[in-house]
Amino acid sequence: MKIPMVDLKSQYTKIKTEVDQKIADVIEKVEFINGSEVKLFKQELAEYLKVKHVIPCGNGTDALQIAMMALGLQQGDEVISSDFTFIATVETIALLKLTPVMVDVRPDTFCIDPDCIEKAITSKTKAIMPVHLFGQCSDMDRIMEIAEKHNLFVIEDTAQAIGSDFISEKNWTKKAGTIGHIGCTSFFPSKNLGCYGDGGAIFTNDDELAEKISSIVNHGMKVRYYHDNIGVNSRLDTIQAAILRVKLPHLDEYNLARLKAADYYDKAFADCTKITTPVRSPKSTHTFHQYTVVLNNVDRKALMEHLNNKGIASAVYYPVALHNQKAFQDFKYNPEDYPVTDKLCETVLSLPMNTELDSETLKYITDSVLEFVCC
Ligand SMILES: *Cc1c(COP(=O)(O)O)cnc(C)c1O
Repeated sequence: MKIPMVDLKSQYTKIKTEVDQKIADVIEKVEFINGSEVKLFKQELAEYLKVKHVIPCGNGTDALQIAMMALGLQQGDEVISSDFTFIATVETIALLKLTPVMVDVRPDTFCIDPDCIEKAITSKTKAIMPVHLFGQCSDMDRIMEIAEKHNLFVIEDTAQAIGSDFISEKNWTKKAGTIGHIGCTSFFPSKNLGCYGDGGAIFTNDDELAEKISSIVNHGMKVRYYHDNIGVNSRLDTIQAAILRVKLPHLDEYNLARLKAADYYDKAFADCTKITTPVRSPKSTHTFHQYTVVLNNVDRKALMEHLNNKGIASAVYYPVALHNQKAFQDFKYNPEDYPVTDKLCETVLSLPMNTELDSETLKYITDSVLEFVCC
């Protein structure tokens, strides 16, 4: 048996006829840039998310950068984000000469800790960038409260949580990425809604921001060759939009397949004290971009080797906290500020998670884990 982390081939096989036809149609019409499929995808994703505006772009990293450009953040402004995330989130902050202020995460959800956000706020703070990590929403009730109190922008990085619902204490439910001022996502192939190359999108309910974002993604112009803003070139290819239009109607079913696999894992590990299964927050549905456990007194490297010998992939997301990355050493973070991320980097392990896991495969994986862990 060979069990990968993601299985894009089996998923593709089920929609191959439709996808291949759509790709051929785009080529036939030579509508490579800003074709009709892009416009239709924009509308369909906006309907799915119940958000006013969706602006597609080249990838998730661009989406984050463009969001901060649209908000008019200036050199030296501080943006507070999570210390435990993929580099793209904070890389874009630094790239724009803003100051990335990384804070610790919650030990239960692995998402940014609102108490740490409050402590990190200074007169220079302009925005908070929560990351809905592994498919579960950050505590947007607290984050929006803090943002309102201190007059800050909120940019949600929802690259790993498209389709997740945030369930507010105040009796409303909204899709991840549609609560703050701007939401950003990625359609990287392995994401929950992945295309067959690079792709991304930006969401907002604010008409003015939407206009600014639409201009920035296209060289800062609205009328051709009249440039109102400093912009970039970041577009979603028509071929990718066509593929995403085939996949979007399957997104809920894909996320449900992930949830089912997660339920299987949870049950199998329920009695094992050496494995802490993912905590399900009552304030969010979980779309399990990753199924990530915390190991308690288990030799992680040896377990990964054991799984590898049995043909089972596993991965560590993330092995190095951002405050320890060489690229950020000039920002001089206090190493004592991150007890939770430091511990997570040493103890987390992600198991195969995708839309194609059947119970036979899951049994083989969980049996193999338990055989080594010996609970
Ligand atoms: C994947 C990812 C991104 C970046 O997306 P790309 O499309 O690869 O640029 C940003 N943030 C998080 C949390 C991600 O997982």
